[in-house]
Amino acid sequence: MADSTVRIGLVLPDVMGTYGDGGNALILRQRLRMRGFDSEIVEITLNDEVPESLDMYTLGGAEDYAQRLATRHLTKYPGLQRAAERGAPVLAICAAIQVLGHWYETSSGERVDGIGMLDVTTTPQENRAIGEVITTPVIAGLTAQLTGFENHRGGTTLGAEAAPLARVKFGVGNGVGDGFEGATQGSVIGTYMHGPALARNPELADLMISRALGVEKLEPLELPDVEQLRRERLAVGR
Ligand code: GLN
Repeated sequence: MADSTVRIGLVLPDVMGTYGDGGNALILRQRLRMRGFDSEIVEITLNDEVPESLDMYTLGGAEDYAQRLATRHLTKYPGLQRAAERGAPVLAICAAIQVLGHWYETSSGERVDGIGMLDVTTTPQENRAIGEVITTPVIAGLTAQLTGFENHRGGTTLGAEAAPLARVKFGVGNGVGDGFEGATQGSVIGTYMHGPALARNPELADLMISRALGVEKLEPLELPDVEQLRRERLAVGR
């Protein structure tokens, strides 16, 4: 890190950020601050070039047209791609998985080139996947089940370079019949889970933070009141 402030890029909240996905950046900042790290959110809008120097990045979901504007912007200003190449953690929610892939097809069947950070492709499925999703993580560093809310028509197929984030217990996930949810590759973690995902799954937030700080393990945060609220209202299991 250039100085001691951990800088979180909230990428294109003006076009990507359905269901409060911008909250993921707030969760990262709060969990950093509670551990004594200065932290700030840097909003990157369609009026800004995408800086490559930030410590981590989050991107939210979007409808087809907004998703296309975001794709064009991230292609024109490849700061996110460069940041990921040097290992900066990137969280990509829903439409952002699709944008970060090789290509995606919109609901009307048009194929749009993505930015190629994830070895995935996305095609519209017959039925829209809407509702709660509950999964078991399959990547190192996560032990608790992951939960979220999904709403997407695209089904995402993983290529050899990408690995799934989790196995679906309930809900649809990537939606192409392999039983998986999300995609990871290098420092990128993609998931269809809204919620926001990091409020519902603090272990995932801490995985991003530990990677950004380059530490093996973080001290756990003892937040009994938040934990209780999370269990009652957010981390709905079955
Ligand atoms: N437009 C995409 C789809 O329907 C992504 C939706 C979203 O981000 N919620 O698959």
